[in-house]
Amino acid sequence: MKPTSITLPPTELFIDGEWRPGNGGTFTVESPTDGTVIAKPHSADAGDVDRAVAAARRAFDLGPWPALPGAERGRLLHRLADLIEENATRFAELESLDVGKPYRDALAVDVDLAVQTFRHFAGWADKLHGSTIPVPDHMGRPRFSFTERVPVGVVGAITPWNAPTMITSWKLAPALAAGCTVVLKPAEDAPLVSQLLAELAAAAGLPAGVLNVVNGPGRTTGAAITAHPGIDKLSFTGSPEVGRAIGRAAAERFTRVTLELGGKSPQIVLQDADIEALAPVAAVSLFANSGQTCAAGTRILVHRSRVDDVAQALAAQARAQRLGDPFDAQTTMGSLINAAQRDRVMGYVTAGLDQGAELITGGTAPDRPGYYVEPTLFVGTNDLTIAREEIFGPVGTIIPFDDTDEAIRLANATRYGLAAVIWSQNIGEAMAASRALRVGAVWVNSWGAPDPRVPWGGMKSSGVGRELGLSGLLANTEERLVNIVY
Ligand code: NAD
Repeated sequence: MKPTSITLPPTELFIDGEWRPGNGGTFTVESPTDGTVIAKPHSADAGDVDRAVAAARRAFDLGPWPALPGAERGRLLHRLADLIEENATRFAELESLDVGKPYRDALAVDVDLAVQTFRHFAGWADKLHGSTIPVPDHMGRPRFSFTERVPVGVVGAITPWNAPTMITSWKLAPALAAGCTVVLKPAEDAPLVSQLLAELAAAAGLPAGVLNVVNGPGRTTGAAITAHPGIDKLSFTGSPEVGRAIGRAAAERFTRVTLELGGKSPQIVLQDADIEALAPVAAVSLFANSGQTCAAGTRILVHRSRVDDVAQALAAQARAQRLGDPFDAQTTMGSLINAAQRDRVMGYVTAGLDQGAELITGGTAPDRPGYYVEPTLFVGTNDLTIAREEIFGPVGTIIPFDDTDEAIRLANATRYGLAAVIWSQNIGEAMAASRALRVGAVWVNSWGAPDPRVPWGGMKSSGVGRELGLSGLLANTEERLVNIVY
């Protein structure tokens, strides 16, 4: 059950270490499970964004943040990780309240990975090494060339609503570890955890201006960040459509940019796959967070001889899902984020039916308060709308294939390239298939949330650049070359 009282974080903007009212009015955040108003955060107008960027600029240009010894930045980030861990239940409550995600998943996955992300990048803060490069001097004098990794500057981070605790940590931890300062704009549908992060960042001792949080609509607050000349790098996670606009704006000023966009990830079930073992994991990939995950394995490409077995096993998993109150420990699937998203997902279900896909389970929105959709499975083909477009809901399509070459061709026949799963007991075949896939991440016989220690990002319309791991850290730096001739 929903806790009787959840302590909400402040609703104002967090600029230069202080909570300040926004000049863009307020907006309403509703509970996706019953439509009640949760909070009315302040919105930042262009002037507020300007003040936030100026604060981040001062904290970067005048310091002390980028000039602190890396070990000191690491110590403060470890302290922030400890505070997130101490407040884990509060984060999970806010995430669950805002997103409609089961509380137990928010606690065990999102908050835990956020803590791990801050710890991982805290450890990198004093390990940003350059290299020495032997170069002959053309006049025969001794020459010494070396590189340094310097922070890219002020990072404008814009995040989506589906996993706010985790994705915000992915943006903040590597940027702060590298010595950057940040202006963060959370998604309007799920702003609460970022407010709590700002509160804890101050409590951890991050200097004023190092982290600034400005809420508000994407088309005003987000656009003001995107166009601001004081921003050195834009780090965006969200839809390809908004990603394209951000990429264009970045190109205008040669602003650095990382884009983490959508997906339509294939799960390739080869003829020898262990279906009993894959079913529960494939179900998590399809139905976790009600299918609102970027790496959801929504195109289940199955060897024709195994289609019936896979359909039965996945349908059983779908029917075993318990839709309901995200705070109920028995609930495995909460709600979608809002009414528009529920209607969008149901529109895709209708399109699937209209285009002749075979519905094998689900396909309805239960008649209850909140924005729920039943776990839904179709059997169809790769050219259907439901197999081409990202639905961002609990809808998967089983697509038969006859041989592995066809499976690879179908897997790659999409504008996306975020992730893929290969189910096979033959590691040689799985490795060969893996090499042929145009995606940023391949899972063999598993699926899970990105881990802070390994890089994350997509090919094609799924994004530009990498987050997390060493690549994610370096994406917040510039490489500077120094030549000494003596
Ligand atoms: P969205 O693109 O609608 O919004 C994302 C953010 O961009 C929000 O904060 C929004 O306010 C802001 N925004 C909107 N218009 C803007 C503009 N014109 N200028 C600047 N900012 C603007 O995406 P969403 O609906 O919040 O999230 C769902 C999408 O995110 C899906 O496509 C999903 O696959 C993707 N996603 C990708 C990853 C990944 O790691 N690749 C992770 C999670 C979600």
